[in-house]
Amino acid sequence: MGDSLTRVNPDPRRSLPSVSALAGRVGSLRPELPEWAVVQAARRVIEEARARIDVVLGPDGAGAPRDSLDLPTSDEDWAERVIRTARTLARRHPRPVVNATGVVLHTNLGRAPLAEGAAEAARAVAAGYSDLELDLDTGRRGSRLGALAAKLCELSGAEAATACNNNAAAVMLAVDSLARGREVIVSRGELVEIGGSFRVPDIMAASGAKLVEVGTTNRTHLQDFERAIGPDTGLLLKVHRSNFSQAGFVKEVELGDLVALGRRRGVPVMEDLGSGTLIDLTREGFPAESFAPGRVATGADVVCFSGDKLLGGPQAGILLGRAAVIDAMRHNPLSRALRLDKLGIAALDWTLDAYLAGRARDEIPALRRMLEPPAALEARARSLAGRLAALLKGAGEVRVEPGRAPVGGGSLPGFELDTWVVALRTPRGARSTAEALRRASTPVLARVQDDAVILDLRSVGASEVARIEAAVAESLV
Ligand SMILES: *Cc1c(COP(=O)(O)O)cnc(C)c1O
Repeated sequence: MGDSLTRVNPDPRRSLPSVSALAGRVGSLRPELPEWAVVQAARRVIEEARARIDVVLGPDGAGAPRDSLDLPTSDEDWAERVIRTARTLARRHPRPVVNATGVVLHTNLGRAPLAEGAAEAARAVAAGYSDLELDLDTGRRGSRLGALAAKLCELSGAEAATACNNNAAAVMLAVDSLARGREVIVSRGELVEIGGSFRVPDIMAASGAKLVEVGTTNRTHLQDFERAIGPDTGLLLKVHRSNFSQAGFVKEVELGDLVALGRRRGVPVMEDLGSGTLIDLTREGFPAESFAPGRVATGADVVCFSGDKLLGGPQAGILLGRAAVIDAMRHNPLSRALRLDKLGIAALDWTLDAYLAGRARDEIPALRRMLEPPAALEARARSLAGRLAALLKGAGEVRVEPGRAPVGGGSLPGFELDTWVVALRTPRGARSTAEALRRASTPVLARVQDDAVILDLRSVGASEVARIEAAVAESLV
């Protein structure tokens, strides 16, 4: 009952510090923190306190007991909260991390890591001038994407190609170019949400096309498309189910059948492949449909996919297709708004060269990691486990175990790679250890499973083992 006495105290809003006083105090305690971050942090901490008071006490201050307010209790406490917030604000972003989740194409961790050569190509162009839109032979205006397009055609067998900022943009650009103000027919089983607000129906709406859904969630037949085609049909669209799979009583329309139907009825056909490669990985167990040249060979008018998923390049949307269709996109005013920047062009150009030279499997990190044989991962896991056991000195447990890791990044649902992991059990517990690893000077991202931190070597390069060791060492102090 003692709590209720606090209600007669003056309104705590009146005892909040001022931004300038709090920021000044923190500034003298931590002169190394940038002033802008300290001032913004002080403002946030005070505003959050005020908002909590408003919620808990209500406008007249007669609400719940103020123990539940979680207000700072001393000057040090106020300063401490501001310092923590200011540090977060001032931190560089994004920072490099070690991906020990096993998911090679991790959306939250920046998807595909670039090859050293691709990163260097981007750096060289970024740090100076380049012939981005100049023809050095004639001295006249040159084509921004011409070189990329030629390489994409060579690799895919497509008649024409272009690239834009990302695959979501590629879908928008294609739909807008082919079907603005007209109808786009899509199976109900393929109205997917990729995450990060990419939803097929929303993209249709944004592109000014009218979505016509056909079939049911689990089954769509060619006749469903056929019956829906009318005078206003602008496009038949197939969307890859990148991040989920269906089993049981299911039926989807094959791209080849859709292409034949489109030909008969004079309607263009497009596939949003999501994740595509330019080398055939079926022998390595990857699904055949991710081989983009195979999709182009069906005769589809356009096939699009991401540059930074299975391809292993920079963020980009790659569009392969018939010359007239690609031309329409190039002349669409939207293409300027959705265009690929020079860093992306340089990195993608280098990446395509690696494919053309037959070096992709060795030099593209995403491919190299996905194709690395389990025996190599086991050896790396044993080496990491040995180092960690030496650090723990018996205070905890380190085990090497086989596992399975998804590819991630909205690629190949249900498809998993064999992997090897180090399972780490420490006295402070798995959650707390995983958190400490995230806060290490080079953060390490791991999975928590039951009572163990799982460090999965599928997504860890040989040079990163020492960084994991360092992060675990930091987590022990
Ligand atoms: C990933 C994906 C997208 C979005 O691609 P971004 O490159 O992330 O813009 C669109 N469609 C499908 C089917 C996808 O898998």
